[in-house]
Amino acid sequence: MLWLGGGQVFDVESGRFRSAAIGIEGDQIHSIADAPRPGREDRVLDASGCFLLPGLIDCHVHLAMPTDEADPSAVAGWPDALIAIYAMKAAERTLLGGTTTVRDCGGWNYVEMAVRKAIKRGWCIGPRLFLAGRLLSITTGGVDYYPGMYEVANGPDEVRAAARRQLARGADFVKVMATGAMLSPENEDARAIQFTLEELKAAAEIAHDNFKHMAAHAHACQGILNAVEAGADSIEHGTYADEQALRLMAERKVTLVPTFCATTSMLHDPKVSASMPPHLHERLVASREIRQQMVRQAHRLGVPIAMGTDAGTPGNHHGDNVDECIAMVEEAGLSPADSLRAATLHGARLLRQEDKLGSLAPGRFADIIATRANPLDDIRALKRLALVMKGGVAHLNALS
Ligand SMILES: [Zn+2]
Repeated sequence: MLWLGGGQVFDVESGRFRSAAIGIEGDQIHSIADAPRPGREDRVLDASGCFLLPGLIDCHVHLAMPTDEADPSAVAGWPDALIAIYAMKAAERTLLGGTTTVRDCGGWNYVEMAVRKAIKRGWCIGPRLFLAGRLLSITTGGVDYYPGMYEVANGPDEVRAAARRQLARGADFVKVMATGAMLSPENEDARAIQFTLEELKAAAEIAHDNFKHMAAHAHACQGILNAVEAGADSIEHGTYADEQALRLMAERKVTLVPTFCATTSMLHDPKVSASMPPHLHERLVASREIRQQMVRQAHRLGVPIAMGTDAGTPGNHHGDNVDECIAMVEEAGLSPADSLRAATLHGARLLRQEDKLGSLAPGRFADIIATRANPLDDIRALKRLALVMKGGVAHLNALS
């Protein structure tokens, strides 16, 4: 057994740290004790002065999308093999940045499924991957931007068949486009309804019949209402949600995944920001404050919020996922404890994995990160990690 001793351990329910030691057996947490109780064969890792948290869960990532391209459609002509190599490195960077679980909301010709296999075989390192396969969409201009990411389906029967195809490939959930996207051609409007209510219901039916959840990309308010009505488990982005939509989400416990980083990170990358196609830059900037206000209101109304970066969009780099935790505090006024809960417990609940992930307790996977400073005092402490452990294996270890 391995003991992590001398540190402060985060309790996701209460949002507090307490002095404790974590006993790790194999890939799981075996016990939480006041102090290490090592047997003769056991090792003790000294985490004195450190703050131990569950590995973070990013509920909205595109591992196959390269972030140094200012124009997201640049990838359209890349061979799958090149994209697979990129996705493999993106997975490694994501893990080393403290995100031990990722929900990929739109892959690329299923190369991300191969990356998951490679991680399982130990050929490379990366987070635990929960994958959508291709996202389901109506015929739209966005398909030309991301030909490897979109599965076109029109009408409920085609939607059912498309959802089944993703599950047959190994998808863990179904992702649908309820409205237009922001990072799309000029003729696509994020405020336009895409899938109809009937089509969304068809996707949800297949997801839920197979014990999977459904994630709905939605900016326009009516698209959000349609997705919630259809049974979506999460709303991605949610930009133009009004109070009625947010109240409905709170009532039905539909998770909001805000994805601040899609805008914030782009603005922080001067090269990407300057060379981005103007219509995309304009859209992101124009919707920024609207989203900030929406997330504030959602939080006030009790909508469950899960951390999601949309990493893979221009300038939104894989590995900088903790920036979303910072944005939730600085842009939407969440407390650091609420932000950390969004990045752990709430993500685990959305993935239906709360018995294995998202908290530090016996029986959970030993997915643990450590900061040097207290993230409840300053959430930016997440930027300086002393430990990243996934399944009991330390992939980054600066502990003495
Ligand atoms: Zn996305």
